[in-house]
Amino acid sequence: MDERDAVMRTHRATEITVGEIGQRVTIAGWVQRRRDHGGITFLDIRDASGIVQVVADPEDHEAVGDIKMEFCVSVAGTVRARPEGTENPDLPTGQIEIGAEEIVVLSAAGTLPFMIDDRVEVDERVRLQYRYLDLRRPRMAANLKARSGATAAIRRTLDEAGFLEVETPTLINSTPEGARDVLVPSRLRTGEFYALPQSPQLFKQLLMIAGVERYFQIARCYRDEDFRSDRQLEFTQLDLEGAFWDRDDVLDVIESVLVAVAKELRGVDVPRPFPRLTWHEAMNRYGSDKPDIRFGMEIVDLSLVFAESEFGVFKDAIEAGGTVRGINAGTREWSRSRADALTDRAKEFGAKGLVWMVVEDDGSLRSPIAKFLSDPELGEIKRAFSAGPGNVLLLAADTWKTTVTVLGGLRLELGRPANHDELEFLWVVDFPLFEEGEDGSITFSHHPFTSPKSLDDMRERPREAISNAYDAVLNGIELGSGSVRIHDPDVQREVFEILGIDPDTAEKRFGWFLEALRYGTPPHAGFAFGVDRLVMALQNESSIREVIPFPKTQTGLDPMTGAPTWVDDAQLEELGIELTSDSEARREELEA
Ligand code: ASP
Repeated sequence: MDERDAVMRTHRATEITVGEIGQRVTIAGWVQRRRDHGGITFLDIRDASGIVQVVADPEDHEAVGDIKMEFCVSVAGTVRARPEGTENPDLPTGQIEIGAEEIVVLSAAGTLPFMIDDRVEVDERVRLQYRYLDLRRPRMAANLKARSGATAAIRRTLDEAGFLEVETPTLINSTPEGARDVLVPSRLRTGEFYALPQSPQLFKQLLMIAGVERYFQIARCYRDEDFRSDRQLEFTQLDLEGAFWDRDDVLDVIESVLVAVAKELRGVDVPRPFPRLTWHEAMNRYGSDKPDIRFGMEIVDLSLVFAESEFGVFKDAIEAGGTVRGINAGTREWSRSRADALTDRAKEFGAKGLVWMVVEDDGSLRSPIAKFLSDPELGEIKRAFSAGPGNVLLLAADTWKTTVTVLGGLRLELGRPANHDELEFLWVVDFPLFEEGEDGSITFSHHPFTSPKSLDDMRERPREAISNAYDAVLNGIELGSGSVRIHDPDVQREVFEILGIDPDTAEKRFGWFLEALRYGTPPHAGFAFGVDRLVMALQNESSIREVIPFPKTQTGLDPMTGAPTWVDDAQLEELGIELTSDSEARREELEA
């Protein structure tokens, strides 16, 4: 027997090039396309490497008659040059074809729910129901490959930098990261629950106490949040922590990782260091704590221009301690309906209204409020915006936070590039330590283990205190966050207290952690970024679901396996769980 016949294949599809002409090869893969032409059958055979063309005479091969799309086949044959004029320069194997000598159907395929073709639009639910077919599509296969490339680059970079990869448990106690926990009932201890980690935060801090000075993990995290295009119930983070570290050590190593991943997936050298903005600057200039700096359209402060304004809305806002700001939206078509639509959007972002102005060719301003403005004000406005004929100016007046948020939202809608061809990484640093809830209560803005920049500020003016927290942003996407941690148990206790966690509750929930902090905790700092989001942007996708092998729908469903599902009464009983009458009713309804 020819030695080659003993193996299932001798080559992968794209390994067959002009160098193999005249050789006998065996390939195996799926039938991407079948064409019958002048008594001859052409089969495009796809394997994980790509596509190669097979030519067969159906008269010689009984199997060919049955072969349909996505059949799994193996083909043995001799490589030859394609006849002149039939080469395909778009394919790496476009100069050659395999003249089939033996064709074996390894496995037939049923009628496909959709074509394995990137150009065909398929409903996402159907794609997810047949994800294993969806993943055969070149774009999805490329995304899987990119993801693997990303994690390989991460591991390589951190391994070289002396990091230890450490796994932390998934069945744990609650770790507060601001989301709801995903809970898992305990069978051995009925009535008690594990929480899946919202992040490995406390475990990585314990590893610092344990003397692991450089830790990382590509960690699965679980947050029961409402789904959006960039959120899933479970997602993957690069989680990292270092001891005897300050903020800049973290930024430096995270930059090196992000640059390595960008190089791996895009082949580009992203310049370092990344620009840095404080949270205040980011909010003032872009109205966002994750600014997209690929385009300008920065927010302009007009409070001085309108300090003496006769226009009631502006005057009231300023007198109430608020502000008047705006953006120059550039030259664009302007109409009543466009103005109304944008005003509606502004209201959705929290504005009470939106003022628009258009610079006319003669330099005058057309605006519903023009008649309320003095000549010096009109001149000042144009100067402040560097506005020229045709420019559309959008103004909002409200509290500082509302004004910049509204303008930041409009700025993105009007200026944001649709794709991620260009990469603009950015650090946002000096976040506020706490956030104020609508009821005036204080919550943490990063997580409760983040250290304040100044203890005095934290104690005296907690609402204004700045933290040692920082975010990495790429093209307006928040990739991740980190902070310098609290390593003093007394300060940690104080923060719990400010957050309104009374000492008893703090002891019950975090006593074990406060205890750990008492045994010589090194100063430490860390970071975590979303692998899904990073790969999404680098692959120019608009949803993380496109880069997660088996994601859930936006309502948390897996259309393929049907998860989540009802479980047997016996299982519930073992867990000491009884369904409420509402859940029972739902179950009966669905099972009927
Ligand atoms: N645990 C944080 C998070 O998941 C990241 C960090 O502070 O390192 O967002």
